[in-house]
Amino acid sequence: MKKEELYSGKAKTIYRTEDPDKLISVFRNSLTAFDGKKKSEAEKKGYFNAQISRKLFEMLEEEGIPTHYLGMEADNEMLVRAVEIIPIEVIPRNIAAGSITRKYPIEEGTVFKTPVLVMDYKSDEHGDPMMNEDIAVAMGIATYEEVAQIREMALKINEILKNYLDEKGFLLPDFKLEFGRVDGKIVVADEISCDTCRLWDKSTGQSMDKDIFRFDKGDLSKAYEEVAKRIVPEIFE
Ligand code: 5GP
Repeated sequence: MKKEELYSGKAKTIYRTEDPDKLISVFRNSLTAFDGKKKSEAEKKGYFNAQISRKLFEMLEEEGIPTHYLGMEADNEMLVRAVEIIPIEVIPRNIAAGSITRKYPIEEGTVFKTPVLVMDYKSDEHGDPMMNEDIAVAMGIATYEEVAQIREMALKINEILKNYLDEKGFLLPDFKLEFGRVDGKIVVADEISCDTCRLWDKSTGQSMDKDIFRFDKGDLSKAYEEVAKRIVPEIFE
């Protein structure tokens, strides 16, 4: 049962529960991009993202990767472990798109022979600048061992998701992970959904993710529904 609101982010609101070790994450229909400068709403977005995230967390848990996921409270409400979030956006990249093509002379669509792991400091105020282990340690936000473990987990998750999504007809150019600390252990936190991944349809090359909103590429709700149909067909039965 939800108690008071703990925190409201751009796409999710976090509530306390009776158990201090458990929180409820409500996936909302709100959309923001470019550090909150562009805003909108999309019908059923929260529902589709919550269900896609649930499925991907369940799959990672089955593969032995610990996550904060505990179960579902409602269609768009996820019960999660309370973790101490490490403010690093960890981004495995398989195909060049987005910021890497703006910051470096790398052409969009370039397939990386080995995944490129990028880390950014999660801070709108500072414009999400580049992060590495030395900066993380200097800022006191993680130890060298933790960053090494995060990198290893992110690369393993990338392999699992890339293969899984390939079977569902998607390319996975890149995606963002967040990690948290609980009982001295590092676990995957936040969400893994159409808002946090780049997903390209394998046959048409079309974006099926938040780039639709960022760059006005069409009907976002329809694309997210199509992703949900392939990843969580059971919710349409
Ligand atoms: P880029 O660095 O190209 O902007 O983003 C790389 C990947 O990470 C994309 O899949 C993008 O959706 C995800 N990503 C990076 N930062 C954020 C963020 O602040 N919010 C969300 N939802 N996704 C992000």
